[in-house]
Amino acid sequence: MSDIRYSLSQNEMPEAWYNLPADLPEPMAPPLHPGTREPVKLEDMTAIFPENIVMQEMSSERYIPIPEEVRDIYALWRPTPLLRAVRLEKALQTPAKIFYKYEGVSPAGSHKPNSAVAQAYYNREAGIKRLVTETGAGQWGSALSMACKLFGIECVVYMVKVSFTQKPYRKLVMQTWGGTVYASPSELTEFGRKVLADDPDCPGSLGIAISEAIEDTVKTPGTKYALGSVLNHVCLHQTVIGQESIKQMEKAGCDPDIIIGCVGGGSNFAGMVSPWLERKLKGGKQYRVIAVEPSSCPTLTKGELRYDFGDTAMMTPLMMMYTLGHDFIPPSIHAGGLRYHGMASLVSQMYKLGMVEARSYGQLKIFESAVQFARTEGLIPAPEPSHAIAAAIDEAVAAREEGKEKVILFNLCGHGLLDMTAYDAFLGGKLTDEA
Ligand SMILES: *Cc1c(COP(=O)(O)O)cnc(C)c1O
Repeated sequence: MSDIRYSLSQNEMPEAWYNLPADLPEPMAPPLHPGTREPVKLEDMTAIFPENIVMQEMSSERYIPIPEEVRDIYALWRPTPLLRAVRLEKALQTPAKIFYKYEGVSPAGSHKPNSAVAQAYYNREAGIKRLVTETGAGQWGSALSMACKLFGIECVVYMVKVSFTQKPYRKLVMQTWGGTVYASPSELTEFGRKVLADDPDCPGSLGIAISEAIEDTVKTPGTKYALGSVLNHVCLHQTVIGQESIKQMEKAGCDPDIIIGCVGGGSNFAGMVSPWLERKLKGGKQYRVIAVEPSSCPTLTKGELRYDFGDTAMMTPLMMMYTLGHDFIPPSIHAGGLRYHGMASLVSQMYKLGMVEARSYGQLKIFESAVQFARTEGLIPAPEPSHAIAAAIDEAVAAREEGKEKVILFNLCGHGLLDMTAYDAFLGGKLTDEA
C-alpha cells in the first residue's frame, strides 16, 4: 500500500500561533483612523473589538500561545490531515508530487473555525455577551455561530443577500448552531435602509454587510464585532494550518518547491504560508509561494496598493492594501467566491516585498479543475480552494513539460458539499467567464 495520508496525533497540534509581522523585513504600514488619518490607537479599535484582540492585532511577538480552552475545541477536528493526490498525479501524467492540507474536516467544513473559536474565546474572556458579523457565502457566519454557541455568546450575522437566497443551507447551518441571520442590505440599520432606498434589488456585497454589522455593533450595548479574514489576528489564528503542514511534509519526507493557496481576504493563504515563509526568511529553502484569485475579483493582480476602507460605508480604519476600491462589487455571474475588494495588509506586504507571487484564473477553469479533482481524489472541493487546485494542476503540468520532479503543496481550505448551486451552474453549462 502506498502512503497517501500523513496524520498527526492530538499532542502534535501547535501550542502557539506564529506571527509573521515579527519577522517581516519591512514592517507593514499602520492602519489609519478614518477621520483624523492618524495611525489608529488602541482606544479607537476597542469601540468594535475587545482589548485582548486589539493587542493581538497590534502584536509584534513572534509566537503567541494558544489558550488551553481553544486547543480543547480545536481537538474536535485538529490536527487536520495532509494527503498526497496520487490519482490526480497519475491523471496528469506528471512526475510532480502533489500534496494538500485538508481543512474541510472542521465542523463548518472550512478553515474558518480556526479563528472563530479563538475570537469567541477572547470575547468571552472580555465579558462580551453578543458578537455581530457579516458573511458572504456563509462559511464565516457558520463558523462563528458554532464558536459562539460553544462559549455561550449570542451571534448575529448579516449575510450578503444573493447568498442568503442562493445558499439556504448555510443559513440553516447557522440557525442550527443558534445564530440569528439577516439578509444584507437589511431594514435593520440606517446604512442598509439607505442602500435599499437607492436600489431595492441590491444583491448586497461583503462591504455593505460589514458596514451593517459595524453599525449594529456600535449602536448595541454589550456587543462587539468579529471579522473572519483580512486582519492580522485572523491570519495569525490560521497559522496552525501551515505549522501542521510542515510537520506532515517532514513525515512524508518531502520539502515542497511550490506552496499554493487561494486568496479572498487572505487568511487561509497567510495561515498556510506564514510558517513556511519564516523558514524562507531565515535562510531556508527559497520556496515559490503562489496566491491565486478569481479574474473577476483580481485584487492582487489588478488592484492598487494604497490606503482604502475595509467596508463600503467607509466606517472602518483605512488599511494599506491591494484594493479594487471599497465600492467594488464583483459581476453577478461570478460563482467562485473570494469576492472581497481588498487584501489583508499582511498578504499585501508579502506580495509587495516579492515574498510571494500572485495569479488569477477565470471561473470555467476553476470548476474544470474542481471536477477533475473530485473525479480523481473523490473529495468535492469548495470553489475557493479550487483556485489553488487549478494552480497546482498547472504547475504539475509544467513539471511534466520540463521533466522535473517538483513537490507541490496546496491548501484545500474547505469542501464544496454546500456549494452545489455553483456546481449545478457549471455542470449545466450555464457558467461563463467574464468578458
Ligand atoms: C472564507 C473562505 C475563503 C476566503 O477567505 P480567506 O480569508 O482568503 O481565506 C476561502 N475558502 C473558503 C473555503 C472559505 O470559507
